[in-house]
Amino acid sequence: MTEKKKKPVLSKSTFIKGLQCRKALYLYKNRYFLRDPLSAEQRAKFVRGTNVGIYARELFPGGVDASPKTHFQMAKSVEKTRVLIMEGKTDVIYEAAFSYDDVVVALDILYRENGQWKGVEVKSSKAVSETYHWDAALQYYVINGGGLKLDDFFIAFIDRDFIREGEIHPWKLFKLESRLEDVRLKNESVADILSELKHTIALKSSPDIPIGIHCNDPYPCDFIGHCWKKVPEDSIFLLEGIDERQLFEWYNNKGIKSIDDLPESVLIKPGYQKPLKSIRNNKPVSDKDRFSGYFPGSEKKQLILETFTFAPAIPLFNGTRPYEILPFGLGWMDLQTQKSDLLITEPGKNPQNDIGELLLEQTEQYDLIWVFNDTIEKALIDHYARNLPQKNDAFISIKSKLLDLRQPWDEQFVVYPTMKKLKKAEDILVRFDRPLEKLPENLEIPQEADALYQKLVLSENEKERQEGLTYLENYMNSKLKNLVNLHKLWLDFFQG
Ligand code: SF4
Repeated sequence: MTEKKKKPVLSKSTFIKGLQCRKALYLYKNRYFLRDPLSAEQRAKFVRGTNVGIYARELFPGGVDASPKTHFQMAKSVEKTRVLIMEGKTDVIYEAAFSYDDVVVALDILYRENGQWKGVEVKSSKAVSETYHWDAALQYYVINGGGLKLDDFFIAFIDRDFIREGEIHPWKLFKLESRLEDVRLKNESVADILSELKHTIALKSSPDIPIGIHCNDPYPCDFIGHCWKKVPEDSIFLLEGIDERQLFEWYNNKGIKSIDDLPESVLIKPGYQKPLKSIRNNKPVSDKDRFSGYFPGSEKKQLILETFTFAPAIPLFNGTRPYEILPFGLGWMDLQTQKSDLLITEPGKNPQNDIGELLLEQTEQYDLIWVFNDTIEKALIDHYARNLPQKNDAFISIKSKLLDLRQPWDEQFVVYPTMKKLKKAEDILVRFDRPLEKLPENLEIPQEADALYQKLVLSENEKERQEGLTYLENYMNSKLKNLVNLHKLWLDFFQG
């Protein structure tokens, strides 16, 4: 292997960033301060990927970890890897680092079999995307270019059909597919792309690339706040139902930027009248008639229910699959008495049956049950109905009582400018300037509560468990109160 003298300028992530958009790469390297803050979704995704990567080491146990203490010490990691390979005392190296052509990469697993080195890149997902192929191709290019001839290159990903029974055998949980042919075919293209990316980084000013579908594909870009700041408040992107490619074509090439610039053929469509009015006036437009059929009579006994779930990538309980959605808690409030309660199942115990029983117990006496986005509740009820056939009727009856608090938004009972970007009850409350129960720090999104509960399942530290449970209780209480606030918001539209 040859040693690098120049400081590497690219990594796996910046290469993928550059593939997505040259401007994003330029800004990342030259105007980092313009970057948007890391979103809660991105934080949660990063933690999940790291956990799966570490678990995958069990595929080739007993290796030596070459990872650096900090991200800024990659050169040390490259040197450590070089020495480990040269000494030849180990057949497995984790986070083996290599540098070539101004790029530094860290391979999840490097192993030697019959005297030949092979590489494994681990992905926490259930399928291999085109982006992963490019990621693998870059690593192959750097490792081979650096002087280590790889005999094979695999992508390891999670087998969606795996069902846990007892101890997990890593070779059953992960699928390994050789991508040697593909990465070899891409080798020349990688060299060309790298040369172009390095040229982009060295530019005196940012490349002139308009906003487009690539701003969110394959990943949400870090510079949306910067590049989209000139998009007008009443932009055409607020209107749902028009193909995105068409919108960007109009916006970038035809000067159609705000909704009043839209072609007549769009402006006169009856389905767009409410959204257009709302965007023009920057005010909600509501349809009282739709609400009147939505709210039941007050004589009905009503419950607000929130189900809290987690979806471990690596199955924690027998009979479950990777990423299977499991409930870990319920929160509920009687709408008439305003009495509320919640329950979190003991971390470590398979929560499915406890939650199933609780669901039956708490909902039995009610005529109607309000939830937010009924997809999860419906899926869980179907699961219970299938797995507890003796209680099938009782579960099916719960399903028939569900009312969805997201329906007025999804079905345009109320239309609000920018509404299409709102995904959570909390977002809607903020938009309508309504009281909001603040969620605990670091639990802004369900994925973070999911990650915390998983951590508690695996923790043996009693203090950590107690603190975590208190956090989750606060989170669940706030979420439940926000559903009550949302119910009140829709009620006000109906009555007002
Ligand atoms: S926001 Fe869009 S145009 Fe701007 S850097 Fe990111 S991907 Fe490129």
